[in-house]
Amino acid sequence: MSDDHRLSSGHQIEEHEAHDHALRPKRLDDFIGQGVGRQNLEMFIAAARGRTEAMDHILLHGPPGLGKTTMAQIISGELGVGFRATSGPVIARAGDLASLLTNLAPNDVLFIDEIHRLNPAVEEVLYPAMEDFQLDLMIGEGPSARSVRIDLPPFTLVGATTRAGLLTTPLRDRFGIQMRMQFYTAEELSVILQAQAVKLNLVMAEDGALEIARRARGTPRIAGRLLRRVRDIASVEGAAVITAEVADKALLRLDVDATGLDQMDRRYLSALADNYGGGPVGVETLAAVLAEQRDMLEEVIEPYLMQTGLLMRTPRGRCLSRTGWDYLGLTPPPTASVQLDLLSHQDEDTV
Ligand code: ADP
Repeated sequence: MSDDHRLSSGHQIEEHEAHDHALRPKRLDDFIGQGVGRQNLEMFIAAARGRTEAMDHILLHGPPGLGKTTMAQIISGELGVGFRATSGPVIARAGDLASLLTNLAPNDVLFIDEIHRLNPAVEEVLYPAMEDFQLDLMIGEGPSARSVRIDLPPFTLVGATTRAGLLTTPLRDRFGIQMRMQFYTAEELSVILQAQAVKLNLVMAEDGALEIARRARGTPRIAGRLLRRVRDIASVEGAAVITAEVADKALLRLDVDATGLDQMDRRYLSALADNYGGGPVGVETLAAVLAEQRDMLEEVIEPYLMQTGLLMRTPRGRCLSRTGWDYLGLTPPPTASVQLDLLSHQDEDTV
């Protein structure tokens, strides 16, 4: 199954765009969750506003759908400055970046999504722009080429990435503020869902919101998407109120199980159990067996499986945990048990 069509992937799909604008919280007060990170940002925003200067550059990282774009928009709104959005792969040449930067008003927010995918030549130009608000550009080619320096208005770069590890060190170091977005708790997602239900004119019981929230992989984008599908099924079936029972029936029909895992997650876990005795196995091998992109496994599937403790990432490869074996209703073979005992004495996620 391609990720684009996966109901419970955190990635954007076209359908959600149409609803998105109206549903996104506009103020920091309406942005639920993200604990200390959010509180710190609140302070940095207040400080920048007090000084009427551009805020320091900010890097937001974490799995798709956790609110990076939303947070970037809120930052510009709270600062009362303009917002320009683009994405790493779209800025093909240094000239594209130059035209973006020279068109900013002072203190504006420039949002670059997927910043780990910037072309290295563009990245080089970005360094002095971030540090000194200056652009060094080469004009012309060959012996007549000359370098020109352009002063830029001060700006705040908000970079978003699902893969902070792929950022080059010089780029990462130029972000004064770095925030790791965390998965949301079911209670937080439930509050987000209640707010969305009001905007969508839906009647939803508290237990209905919590049922969807528990199965949304800790991700607001997935929660919103599940809510819209549950609404469709409820309206076809004539259910006036979305209760836990209505939500449960609809979600099972959508193949989202009680823990929020879908067919793709189950394929992943089963491949690990059936083909490799629970691992360890390299991610490339798994990607080949599942006929999926390695990036998709690493960015979308694995973070949540690790978060729920079903999967472990070890220096030797991916391993199914005891909870993972239990989830599949299987008994680990003796070789896997030895492995699991060894792993319980080691730190996870050292890859
Ligand atoms: P990302 O940029 O990390 O992929 P987005 O900012 O596009 O994620 O968020 C995806 C969706 O989830 C948006 O529709 C947004 O309205 C909603 N959302 C994300 N975080 C929150 C939050 N903290 N509170 C309310 N809604 C949120």
